[in-house]
Amino acid sequence: MFKYNKENIFSKILDGEIPNNTIYENEYVLAFEDINPQSPVHALLIPKGEYTSMSDFSENASDKEILFFIRAISKITKIKDINETGFRIIANSGPDSLQEVPHLHFHIVGGRKLGSILP
Ligand code: 5GP
Repeated sequence: MFKYNKENIFSKILDGEIPNNTIYENEYVLAFEDINPQSPVHALLIPKGEYTSMSDFSENASDKEILFFIRAISKITKIKDINETGFRIIANSGPDSLQEVPHLHFHIVGGRKLGSILP
């Protein structure tokens, strides 16, 4: 598993060094618009804690961090008005998934028919 590196872009967003379009925030999570959206709605949900990937978070996050992370999903889908129409969550984790940013993030995409799970 990678060691967390604070030079990643989402760490800089959390530190306020790089701006973001915030959708939702609380003590444990931040959700913001993806800079290169792949669908009409494309939010990124990240924990404020330093977790490199889904496997790191699943193994090492506290119960409270996991609870707040999952609870944030419906806040975001309601704010973005895709709770009823539907959405997909993608969490690239590790090399085979082509994860680019080594800070755990959920892509929450929707606002159109999304097609099959894998291209
Ligand atoms: P990954 O391939 O790691 O799962 O996804 C990384 C995502 O982060 C991509 O969808 C990319 O568009 C997004 N992204 C990369 N840099 C920035 C940035 O500076 N700001 C925002 N809002 N999104 C970014």
